Amino acid sequence: MIQLLPDHIANQIAAGEVVQRPASVVKELLENAVDAGATAVSIVAKDAGRTLLQVVDNGCGMSPTDARMAFERHATSKIHTMDDLNTIRTFGFRGEALASIAAVAEVDLRTRAKEDETGVQLVINGSEVKIQQPVACDKGTSIAVRNLFFNVPARRKFLKSDAIELKHIVAEFQRVALCHPEVALKLIHNNTELYNLPVSNLRQRIVNFMGKEINQQLIDIHVSTSLVNIKGFVGKPESAKRTAGNQYFFVNDRYFKSPYFQKAVINAYEHLLPEQTFPTFFIYFELPPDKIDVNIHPAKVEVKFEDEPVIFQMLNAVVRESLGKFAVVPSLDFDQEGAPEIPVLRKGVIPKSPEVTIDRTFNPFHEEQQQTVPPNWRKLYDGLPTHNATFESDFPEETPQQTTLEILPGVERTGIQLKGRYLITTVKSGLMIIDGQRAQQRILYERFLNKLENHLHETQQEIFPQTVELAPVDYTLLETVLEDLKQLGYDIRPFGNSTVVVNGLPSGLPAMDVKEMLDVLLHDLHEQTDSWKEQRQRKLAESLAKASGYRTEQLNQEQAQVLIDALFACQSPIITPDGKPTLQMISMDEIDKKFLR
Ligand code: ADP
Ligand code: MG
Repeated sequence: MIQLLPDHIANQIAAGEVVQRPASVVKELLENAVDAGATAVSIVAKDAGRTLLQVVDNGCGMSPTDARMAFERHATSKIHTMDDLNTIRTFGFRGEALASIAAVAEVDLRTRAKEDETGVQLVINGSEVKIQQPVACDKGTSIAVRNLFFNVPARRKFLKSDAIELKHIVAEFQRVALCHPEVALKLIHNNTELYNLPVSNLRQRIVNFMGKEINQQLIDIHVSTSLVNIKGFVGKPESAKRTAGNQYFFVNDRYFKSPYFQKAVINAYEHLLPEQTFPTFFIYFELPPDKIDVNIHPAKVEVKFEDEPVIFQMLNAVVRESLGKFAVVPSLDFDQEGAPEIPVLRKGVIPKSPEVTIDRTFNPFHEEQQQTVPPNWRKLYDGLPTHNATFESDFPEETPQQTTLEILPGVERTGIQLKGRYLITTVKSGLMIIDGQRAQQRILYERFLNKLENHLHETQQEIFPQTVELAPVDYTLLETVLEDLKQLGYDIRPFGNSTVVVNGLPSGLPAMDVKEMLDVLLHDLHEQTDSWKEQRQRKLAESLAKASGYRTEQLNQEQAQVLIDALFACQSPIITPDGKPTLQMISMDEIDKKFLR
């Protein structure tokens, strides 16, 4: 009993591939508008696209017959023969998008071709044409997509929070915006204008989208060969971020992802990048369409290149050369960081023996002092030289719970800091190597989580107020956590126009770059999934711990010791909140073995 599926069912099944979420609709409609030669496109969304997505363009428009045809599956004006596929320059060519969208939503299309006097209106609900009539409208096309997935409840249920769906919409918008500066683009969500990008050159478009401060960070790159043209911008090393968010590749005005080419760029920076940072780049490839394979899955963003290794070399070379041209190479030497200071000996001058000064009032984690230390932490310290004699006379009022102080004068123990990152200390069973940054993440995480879970207010330290300009989406996202942040001692307030002013930070934190802190936090907020809702406090504490940690700061002896103590006062001292080890042990056995004893 084999039957052909009726069209509306076939369309709905096909729609599953093309339309996963509101952002897919934005992608398809925006691409159609650009393909239609529009010079201005506006997108209006309501409730992150659930209720309404409308795209209005001033492109070529459609005749009534074409408008009707456009909703048939495999109906396209963009290719006619197999050969056309090799010269394709448009985003679309499969002729599936409109048919798919109309299968799972209520669509209202109004369009007029420039040679026509009147336009046509088409209303289609779940593949069924309800209205087709002449209408007065501007040249171009306007498509309103309402109640997406109204007839696919399962899909509708699987949509994420508005914040997440909007984030996906912005991502699609961005991918088109960053490679079509010749098209004016507007994005409006719930009556708020999120982006209004005028026609401009490429650099201006990037700056308009990403924010003013990126302008002076961008270094031009361009190379032209018979095989490929590469142009765009790479960020100066010092503008590298702690997250890999600002990395974009485009080929023939189409966004794509490529870990392979990414490596070519990062290699070009070599040791110029501070550790654990990611360079910013916007790189555009132009090459004959038959040298790349665009015939990929509609939702995927990989592109296959014919001469990948050669392009890899060219890309690497052009980035390297541009970085060098801007003389950034000799001015930076990150290898010096964390190296021991070796005093220069001069004739006749007898070097003084180094003095160790300890500021006994300094304790960035004074909160942790009160915490009880897990019973087995001591094992790690067994066998260390003791300082009880001097110690007791120094602190006569010492009480037994203040265990952190007991091991404080540990000058010999935490003698070594490696590359500003690792603290090395001896313990009875061998060597313990602690990752300072991760240790701090663990400490801050438990401290923040404790405050959030028990509704306690973290003490705050006022800082010189700092304003930070955010992208509108980032701003809306940040607003959702301002109350929690306040409780944790981050005093951040709206300041109008997507700007916030930071007045205070939790007390006892290492000095931090506020902008960078927000960057990391926002990156995590953008990544939030459903689990965020359930484990909101845990996730927020985790993200803030990561965002507020120091990078490769030099700790003095005492600070190092306080950090180690605070770490072992934690409930789970040996892993970070996201499960990475905070420390490694090298046992005496292993050491002996290396010496062939
Ligand atoms: P594809 O883009 O792959 O051709 P679509 O389903 O997205 O398939 O669109 C089908 C056809 O409808 C396009 O080939 C084009 O001719 C026409 N079309 C769609 N959107 C527009 C628009 N905004 N302006 C003019 N024509 C359009
Ligand atoms: Mg299309």
